[in-house]
Amino acid sequence: MIDESRENIENIKIAAQSILKHEIKQLQLVPSVAIKLLKLTNDDNARIQDLSRIIETEPTLAAKVLRNVNSAAYALPKKITSINRAVNILGFSAVRQIALALLFYNKMIKHISRQKFNQLFFWQHCLFVASLSREIAVALKHPDPDLVYTAGLIHDIGKVVLETYGRVTYSDFIASLAKKKYSLIEQERSFFGISHTEMGLVFCLEWQLPPPITAVIACHHNQPPEASPYAGFRTEIAIVSFADYIAWMQGIGSIKSDGHPVLQHEVLKIINLHQLDLEALLQHVDQEMQNTREFYGIQFPSVTKLRATLVQATINLSQLITDPSFRLDYNSKNRFSSSLIAAHQSLNPDEFLPWTLEAIQRDFAFDHVIMLNIDPKRRCLMASYWWPTSMFTTEQPSLEIKISIVSGILLDCLREKKAVIVNDNVDRNNPILQRLKVKEFIAVPVLHHNRLIGVLYADNSQSKKPIYQKQLAEIAPVADQLGIALVKAEQYEMEKKRAQIDPLTELFNKRMIDQFLTQIFKREKSKRENIAIGFIDIDNFKQFNDVCGHQAGDDALKIVADIMRSLTRPGDFIGRYGGEEFLFVLKNTDEAGAYGYAERIRTEIEHRGKIMKNRFHNLALTVSVGISMYNPRYSSYTKMVEIADQAMYRAKNEGRNRIVMLANTAPPIN
Ligand code: GH3
Ligand code: MG
Ligand code: MG
Repeated sequence: MIDESRENIENIKIAAQSILKHEIKQLQLVPSVAIKLLKLTNDDNARIQDLSRIIETEPTLAAKVLRNVNSAAYALPKKITSINRAVNILGFSAVRQIALALLFYNKMIKHISRQKFNQLFFWQHCLFVASLSREIAVALKHPDPDLVYTAGLIHDIGKVVLETYGRVTYSDFIASLAKKKYSLIEQERSFFGISHTEMGLVFCLEWQLPPPITAVIACHHNQPPEASPYAGFRTEIAIVSFADYIAWMQGIGSIKSDGHPVLQHEVLKIINLHQLDLEALLQHVDQEMQNTREFYGIQFPSVTKLRATLVQATINLSQLITDPSFRLDYNSKNRFSSSLIAAHQSLNPDEFLPWTLEAIQRDFAFDHVIMLNIDPKRRCLMASYWWPTSMFTTEQPSLEIKISIVSGILLDCLREKKAVIVNDNVDRNNPILQRLKVKEFIAVPVLHHNRLIGVLYADNSQSKKPIYQKQLAEIAPVADQLGIALVKAEQYEMEKKRAQIDPLTELFNKRMIDQFLTQIFKREKSKRENIAIGFIDIDNFKQFNDVCGHQAGDDALKIVADIMRSLTRPGDFIGRYGGEEFLFVLKNTDEAGAYGYAERIRTEIEHRGKIMKNRFHNLALTVSVGISMYNPRYSSYTKMVEIADQAMYRAKNEGRNRIVMLANTAPPIN
């Protein structure tokens, strides 16, 4: 979350500047004419003249606007030759919208040519979010849908700034994404030191963009807190967040990545879904995207079919996760409702996968149903779950088919991601037909963010009933739901982990520290003996931020965390207590052992700081450590933590870069 306190904004500004090649003030990213257009508000009396004048002062822009206005998309009976007339006929909003989109495309998007940061993919995302935001704003009777369009169009401008002017670019960041599992925002923070929303905020402040647009750029991944200057723009923020989320769910994210933003609960509190006809909205947006494609003569990389049902299902599910009283609202007329819902009744795939297979078997009266997963390493299709469970046993091992031997119609299913019926007539040599000794089966792709992750198999081998083509269409939505449920399950796992781990240092957070200590103090007293708790606090850390920038401060935190990790025994516990304070809990130790551990950490940090003295502008990286030893009189861990804290402060007072140990009332050893 962006904390808009002045001090924090100053920190973000410093961090932003430190990772850019040029002064933010000098970035020629948004042409001045665009800034002028952005500042024209909807209730400005002279706005039509102003708008015309601004556009007319830029001849190439004027020409392009006219070309667009006269394009097939608007189907006007007579050719328009003046901007003023265009504004009169099409209205302020439409013309401003065209002009802004053109400006941003020409100035920002066309010049991005890095490999990883795909300009067209990104532009498609911006346009989609802008159009959908506008449609939602209209549906919700927002007074200025045009403003919401603009905010949607440039909501991710922070990414463009980073890509175009970063010392390390957004492409570099994308290239580093592979292994990590946190949200994009958190990964950005640990990679750049700030997120794209923070970079966007700095940019907006520097260029004095209107507050509602700034609010959307800064807060579209987190609603602003009550006290924030942007709290007044929660509706605009919610609309763009929602459109952004739908874009990602439709495979139109700003970059190609498996992760996507989490739909925030607050957003659904602000947007009344009942007021929205999602299907109609998406259709409209799809049409607009089509026009844009034609106008720019570009082919967007992913041709996506927009499906409102899919969006609805994910929204339902995210509500289910955050609000236990929420019930899924599926059309009860749907004959296959139990198989559609089964996947959403748990967040654990080991539960919902067999439930779904069972429901499919029941609803569609198949004899056997199997979930075949694609194992990318071994390049094969492997049965992961099946129903009935007696299908495969230890004597009758489960199914595993090398993808290299798949051909014919089943290969079409894998390549083109379409549901197929495989039988003797179309593919006699099919390895699954042969291996399972069946004459016919249905294969339906299961997708995870548009990527094929498995195939749903079903047959009627016992009843010998033929499988009909129309069953393909009926079972496809069930496979969709399975895909969505698998994404959600994975997201939920990540969320859970995120709630436990500090993203910067990847150590456990305060919440987990408290949980761990509570557990220890629940044990009987004899098992708590020989426990040491210690605080490690970086000395004069504020100076690191002030002198070297926030990014260097973060690096120092990571170094301390890494050193602690490397010097800590497996059964012991370390965490980030907050800010630049870390905590350790050692088991089975005595005073000498705890002191020795702390001393190893202290000297290693001091040593590493010396190696990095250039990076840290000659500031010494040192820590003060306070340790408390267990005493049977302690009934809760808070007393022990308190004493460790006192010990740490004593270390500070005695000159820093040292260890102080307090064993209850015993005099300190150091
Ligand atoms: P002392 O030696 O007495 O501990 O002085 P200090 O400067 O280390 O302590 P102080 O509490 O005055 O300052 C701590 C600073 O840590 C202030 C805060 O802005 C900064 N800080 C807290 N969390 C983070 C973070 O995640 N990243 C960065 N870069 N700075 C942080
Ligand atoms: Mg974003
Ligand atoms: Mg400190």
